[in-house]
Amino acid sequence: MVQLNHAIIRAISFDLDDTLYLNGNIIEQAEQALSHWLQEHVAQPALTHINWEQIKKDMLSAAPLLKHDLGELRFRTIMTGLTQIGLDEHKAREYAQKAMTFFVVERSKVNISPQTHQLLEKLQSKYPLVAITNGNLDLQQAGIAHYFKFIYKANLKFPKKPHPHMFRSACHDLDIEPEQLLHIGDNVNDDIGGAHRAGCQAAWLPLKTTPPTLDNSIWQLNTLDDLLCLVD
Ligand SMILES: [Mg+2]
Repeated sequence: MVQLNHAIIRAISFDLDDTLYLNGNIIEQAEQALSHWLQEHVAQPALTHINWEQIKKDMLSAAPLLKHDLGELRFRTIMTGLTQIGLDEHKAREYAQKAMTFFVVERSKVNISPQTHQLLEKLQSKYPLVAITNGNLDLQQAGIAHYFKFIYKANLKFPKKPHPHMFRSACHDLDIEPEQLLHIGDNVNDDIGGAHRAGCQAAWLPLKTTPPTLDNSIWQLNTLDDLLCLVD
């Protein structure tokens, strides 16, 4: 197993979904709630005929860069769907904005365990912490924003992991060298691959998957609490 170079770590970055909490079926539930919200607020029978998946697919083929910004992709999908059933652009935009606010609240109803709060608090007392996510959790609503000095969310300007851009921005903003950042995440490709591409250290936390054959080139955590070795 690869040992970290503890001595040089000056900051820690975290992935969010399936690293600090289990995302589970939160997105599916939020999508269902969104669908009910639209039925209730837009109140048009034609809503049931909208093929949201097809709109999203067409949108991604027309503008592939939208894959980096799930919030913008969802917003534009809602707007397009609503204009397809006859709403004017102004009204469709207004509903889509409100719908997105509602969706983000719903998708941010994640369950962060007391142990994770304690761990973040301890780590924060010794290291600046940053969040690097491809998703769109509202950290304020999830009750964890105060632990993080900087928060990076993939969007049209910050390509999603494994692109090294968000890692490099974090190092730049923290004024540290890449190898002084330790990134923790559940996705081997996005988190570990992305961190390594940026020259950062990384630790893999396979929170929801049974790890495949142990890869000796990756430092693997069994639980988030394994990080306590950095503060004890
Ligand atoms: Mg993740």
